[in-house]
Amino acid sequence: MSYIQGETGDWEIVIGLEVHAQVTSKAKLFSGAATEFGAEPNSQVSFVDAGFPGMLPVINDYCVEQAVRTGLGLRAEINNFSVFDRKNYFYADLPCGYQISQYLQPIVGKGEIVLDLADGASRTVGITRLHLEMDAGKSMHDQHPSKTYVDLNRSGVALMEIVSEPDMRTSEEAGAYLRKLRTILRYLGSCDGNMEEGSMRCDCNVSVRKPGAPFGTRTETKNVNSIKFVMAAIEYEARRQIEILEEGGSIKQETRLWDTTKGLTRAMRSKEEAHDYRYFPDPDLLPLVLDPAWVERIKQTLPELPDDKKQRFITDYKLSPYDAGVLVAEQAKAEFYERVAKGRDPKLASNWVTGDFFGALNKAGKEIGSSPVSAEALGGLIDLIADNTISGRIAKDVFEEMFASGKSAAAIVEEKGLRQVTDTGAIDAAIEAVMAKNPDKVAEFRGGKDKLFGFFVGQVMKATAGKANPALVNEILKKKLG
Ligand code: ADP
Ligand code: MG
Repeated sequence: MSYIQGETGDWEIVIGLEVHAQVTSKAKLFSGAATEFGAEPNSQVSFVDAGFPGMLPVINDYCVEQAVRTGLGLRAEINNFSVFDRKNYFYADLPCGYQISQYLQPIVGKGEIVLDLADGASRTVGITRLHLEMDAGKSMHDQHPSKTYVDLNRSGVALMEIVSEPDMRTSEEAGAYLRKLRTILRYLGSCDGNMEEGSMRCDCNVSVRKPGAPFGTRTETKNVNSIKFVMAAIEYEARRQIEILEEGGSIKQETRLWDTTKGLTRAMRSKEEAHDYRYFPDPDLLPLVLDPAWVERIKQTLPELPDDKKQRFITDYKLSPYDAGVLVAEQAKAEFYERVAKGRDPKLASNWVTGDFFGALNKAGKEIGSSPVSAEALGGLIDLIADNTISGRIAKDVFEEMFASGKSAAAIVEEKGLRQVTDTGAIDAAIEAVMAKNPDKVAEFRGGKDKLFGFFVGQVMKATAGKANPALVNEILKKKLG
C-alpha cells in the first residue's frame, strides 16, 4: 500500500474513473450524420442532432455492436435488455434540452480490467458498467470577443461511458488503468483511444481517507484529456483535500475542472444528483433487446486480447511479465515481436525489440509502421549474433547503421569488415602482444590480483577493434595468464 504522508499521519487516496470513449463509427448514434474529426463547424449535423421538433432518433446497430464487443473485452456481463433514458439539463450546446443516455439498465454490467504495474505485478480493478450515450455539441468561447458560438458536429456522436469501481489507490494505478483500457479498446477497434482528439476523456473521482476508515466525500474533476493530466489532477486533488481535512474542514461534493496551464483543479459547480436530471425512458426509442446468438457470434470474432497474449508470451516464449507487458501494449508491437522471434531465441529477440529497436523508434519519433528496420531485417541481425558472425557488442553498431541507412545487417557487416574473429591463431597473437606490452600487469595478475582479468579482455578487444569472439578471448586468456 502506498500512503500519502500528511501532518496527522498517513492518508489513502481512493479513485474511481469514468471514461467517455467515442465509438469508432462513421455515423452518429441516432442519425446518419458523419463523425469525422476536424470538419468545418456545423457541417456534420442532421435534423436529429440539431434537436428539431418531431425528428426521431434511429439506433445505429454498428455502435451497439461496438458496445457489446467492448463489454466482452472487459469480461463484463452483457445485458440483453437495456433502456435508453433522457437525462434532462439545459445548456447551449444541447439543443434538445436532454441527452439520450442509459441509466438504470445499461447495455453492459460488471466487468474488470487487469492493470500491469511498473514492477511487473498486476492488480484487478472492477468495472461497474458501460453504457451508450450521445455526445453534446461544443460551445466555442474563443471565436468572438463578446459572443459564444456553438458547433454541433459532436452532437449525437456515440460514446461509451465506462465507469470503474473506486478500486484505485494511487495516481500510477489510474495511469495504468487508462493505458490498459486504451489498449483493450484499440485491440477491439471499438474506439481509437486518441485522447488529444477527445475520443477518450476522463472524469476523475477522488477522495481521501485514513487507512481503514470508510470512504470520504469525493470530488469529480471533469473531462481531463491526457493520462499525464489525470495523474496530476489526482495528486493535486488528494493534497488539497488532505490539507482541508487536517485543518478541521470538510470536503464539498462538487464538480471541478482541471486547469492545464496552472496545474490545479478549480471548483466548477456543486455536484448534481441523479434526481436533478429527471431521468425517464426515452419515448422515441424502444428498449434495446439483444439476441443472445448475435452476442455469441460477436464473441467468436474477438481478437486475442492483451491479457491472453501476455500470458501466451510468458508461457510460450518464457518472457518476464514486464517484457511481455511492454510487447502486448500495442498490437503492432506484439506482431512485430512474433515475426522477429519466429525460429529464433525468443529472449534474445525480446531484448532486441524492447531495447535497441523501441529505443531507436522512440528517439526518431517513429511508429513501427514507418520503421526503417523491418522485423525480417532485425531477425537477420539476430541470426548473425546467433551464428557467431558478429558479437553482441558489434551488433549494436550494426543496428544503428541499419536504422540510419535501411541496409541489411549482412551487407553492413561485409562492407565494414565486421566479421567476428574466431580464428584462434589471430586471437593468440593479439593476446601475446598485449601481454608483451604489459609485463608488470601480467606479474600483478599472477601475484593474485584477479581483478586485472577484465583489463586484459578490454585490451585484446581493443586490439581487434571489438571483433574478437569474447568467449574465445576469455578462454585463451585464462590459459595464457594462468
Ligand atoms: P455520478 O454519475 O454521480 O458521477 P457514478 O456512481 O456514476 O456517479 O460514478 C461515480 C464514480 O465515482 C465511479 O467511478 C465510482 O467508482 C467513483 N466513486 C464513488 N465513490 C467514491 C469515493 N468515495 N471516492 C472516490 N471515488 C468514488
Ligand atoms: Mg459522473
